[in-house]
Amino acid sequence: MQTGIVLSNISDLYKVELNNIVYDCNARGKFKSNDISPVSGDIVDIDIINDEKKTGVITKIHDRKNYFKRPKMANLSQIILVVSMKMPKVDLELLDKQLIFAEYNHVKPIICLNKIDLENEEKIEYISNIYTQIGYKVIKTNAKEGIGVEELKKELQNNITAFSGNSGVGKSTLINNILETDITLEGEISNKNKRGKNTTTQVKLYKIDENSYVADTPGFSTFDVKEIDKKELAKYFIEFRPYLNKCEYGDCSHIKEEKCAVKEAVQQGKISKARYERYCKLWNEYVSKY
Ligand code: GDP
Ligand code: ZN
Repeated sequence: MQTGIVLSNISDLYKVELNNIVYDCNARGKFKSNDISPVSGDIVDIDIINDEKKTGVITKIHDRKNYFKRPKMANLSQIILVVSMKMPKVDLELLDKQLIFAEYNHVKPIICLNKIDLENEEKIEYISNIYTQIGYKVIKTNAKEGIGVEELKKELQNNITAFSGNSGVGKSTLINNILETDITLEGEISNKNKRGKNTTTQVKLYKIDENSYVADTPGFSTFDVKEIDKKELAKYFIEFRPYLNKCEYGDCSHIKEEKCAVKEAVQQGKISKARYERYCKLWNEYVSKY
């Protein structure tokens, strides 16, 4: 018995890597009866059947740190949230939603401000500061020229990392720069097949270093912030956390209430007004839903 990591899965075939060798594996039937099957990112035990042909059978799935349905993968440790400074224009609403997604799923977010060649330094610094001040790592890149890519690459060590962000922000360019190859982001949330049906495809993991993998997904765009109980929303704005139990009302929404510690912090400049406004906008989207 040996322990490896599932890199990909197509129907019943799993590619499992251990010690830099990739084995073609099947999974024991018992997984299906237990309603669980291996997915990319899973740490698994395998019995090697044929060393020369590099075939094996998966006998056990280790406990998962996390699990994602669309696209299907497990044990994601880190997510690079790619934002383009221009073309397409910077979308901080989406960035904040994705930060909520990351916080909610206990995945470490790293913000990548890409296409810095298209925007002036002042604007880039302004946005960068909003997020570094609340404790997030921000890396500025020009993927086309490979600027900042080394810094990004360092962050990938000992992680399973996915890239996320709008179409056109530069995810493929960044990944291909990092992998020094030419891949397309396949692990789409849902690909329309020829019959027009939605088929979910699995993420493929690329090994970039010892214990370092990158997933070929373009993101987790099906995530809906409204999956989160709206009373919990504020705590996913991490800079709000120190104030949340200091409001007058225990169930404070931090919107209309008097004596709200979050609002006071905004007024005192301790919380970014822009972030707070995006919180209000999200909160109001909830309200209109009910
Ligand atoms: P994806 O949809 O997020 O994978 O985006 P792509 O990697 O396909 O990039 C979309 C377009 O933006 C391509 O034409 C890239 O050449 C271009 N692009 C990517 N990064 C940069 C950058 O840092 N600066 C500039 N000027 N263009 C970039
Ligand atoms: Zn409040």
